[in-house]
Amino acid sequence: MPTTEQTHTGALRLDDGDVPAIRFDKVVKRFGDNVVLDQLDFTVRQGDRVTLIGPSGSGKTTILRLVMTLEEADDGYILIDGRPLTHESRDGKRVELKEKHKNEMRKRIGMVFQQFNLFPNMTVLENIIEAPVHVLRQSRAQAVARAHELLGMVGLPDKADAHPTQLSGGQQQRVAIARALAMDPEILLLDEVTSALDPEVVGEVLGILRDIAKNTDVTMLIVTHEMQFARDVSNRVLMFDGGRIVEEGSPEQIFTDPQERRTKDFLSAVL
Ligand code: ADP
Repeated sequence: MPTTEQTHTGALRLDDGDVPAIRFDKVVKRFGDNVVLDQLDFTVRQGDRVTLIGPSGSGKTTILRLVMTLEEADDGYILIDGRPLTHESRDGKRVELKEKHKNEMRKRIGMVFQQFNLFPNMTVLENIIEAPVHVLRQSRAQAVARAHELLGMVGLPDKADAHPTQLSGGQQQRVAIARALAMDPEILLLDEVTSALDPEVVGEVLGILRDIAKNTDVTMLIVTHEMQFARDVSNRVLMFDGGRIVEEGSPEQIFTDPQERRTKDFLSAVL
């Protein structure tokens, strides 16, 4: 773990001067008696592509949902670009931040889900422009122009007027990727984005994500069972078990020379 220091502006900086894109500081998350994350610390640098691996139920999706503010931590802090996401520390107390602040922070983050989560009653174009127009207050013309550009990028230039139900799973997921990118996020969260897809379309979705990783500097936090994809795209892999990081390293290290028994067992079960 890199060392950090608190600057006079309150932002946390890494020892090389960069403000981390995401920082978890002693984050605790419980569901009832189930302690899913137990004082979890980790840092994602700007432009990092970090893949979270580990057995089902180890807390990976919960981490993404916390960053997306779909869940709230019970204790600890999550910082995005050095700024607290939902809570800050004041006089040693954990204080909830205002909704306006949370909304500002959410704008920086895009998420693509396993189940696409497109709005079924809207066309593809309307799905993509919804947040840019209503949240970023872009003009409709600007949002539409960008949506067409993104549809071209994900290989669906002629689907703007289609409804999600008229599209295959792979096509819907490509629309969901375009929709996330339309917000021009600094951080892209990918939660098992190929798990609900037929095997023959997994490759096309992963290909698009590989291109995005190659052609942009968006920070990515990825949960996937596609180990080859994790290897191709990430620069760091974190192995989770029981809500804790048991091992971390480059994809090369983790996939070819894992040190921990739990990492070895997990990889031999999925590879
Ligand atoms: P992973 O992504 O590694 O499979 P999850 O983050 O989905 O793990 O889940 C971690 C644990 O939290 C599991 O035990 C799961 O049952 C529990 N959990 C997740 N979401 C909820 C929820 N909304 N209510 C209750 N328990 C939950």
